[in-house]
Amino acid sequence: MNFTDFELDHRIQAGIKACGYKNPTAIQEQAIPVGLQGRDVMGLAQTGTGKTAAFVVPALQRLLQGKRGKPRVLVLSPTRELAEQTHEFFTALGRKTGLRCVSVYGGVSRSGQVQKIRSGVEIVVACPGRLLDLARDRAVNLSQVETLILDESDRMLDMGFMPDIRSIMKMLPPKRQNMLFSATMPADIRTLADEILDDPARVQV
Ligand code: AMP
Repeated sequence: MNFTDFELDHRIQAGIKACGYKNPTAIQEQAIPVGLQGRDVMGLAQTGTGKTAAFVVPALQRLLQGKRGKPRVLVLSPTRELAEQTHEFFTALGRKTGLRCVSVYGGVSRSGQVQKIRSGVEIVVACPGRLLDLARDRAVNLSQVETLILDESDRMLDMGFMPDIRSIMKMLPPKRQNMLFSATMPADIRTLADEILDDPARVQV
């Protein structure tokens, strides 16, 4: 299979090409078509499988239609390193789209992140704690979020982020696409998936 087999905008195809990707990985082959349909996704995949592009590509495609300037895609990540990496994927694959991404995490000053948000972004990649702080201070508006992606969900639960994630989810429109990725499937992830995913496509490698 080739990336050109997906119905993707030429700007995204150009980003994929510039990244040097030719053939989708197994997880991408499964997740991209269902993600493009707007379906919820339950992805069981480790790092190294290409799981990041599996959610970045459909998220970018969806963002090309609709208004710009407000966060419409939200990715929650367990660590600032993963948030930075994911931000880089959005920037690299979306380089021809003009879509803008901010990464948000603690341990650094808020002002740069707040300024970037204020200047207009469509994608927020965030660690839950700092995002919740910013949202409570009305420094970020989550009322237009259409797609929620929980990345490395098992790690987020292990790190105790569940209460923050629940608080964030209450701030999002109830009608949205949800994609939950996890390397493992313990009982608490199953419970979370049952709770937030609506008839999800299950993808697994
Ligand atoms: P991930 O599992 O998302 O952390 O990705 C692992 C690595 O695979 C990253 O360095 C990606 O740039 C690379 N990668 C992702 N998708 C593809 C692809 N379709 N073809 C080649 N490399 C890829």
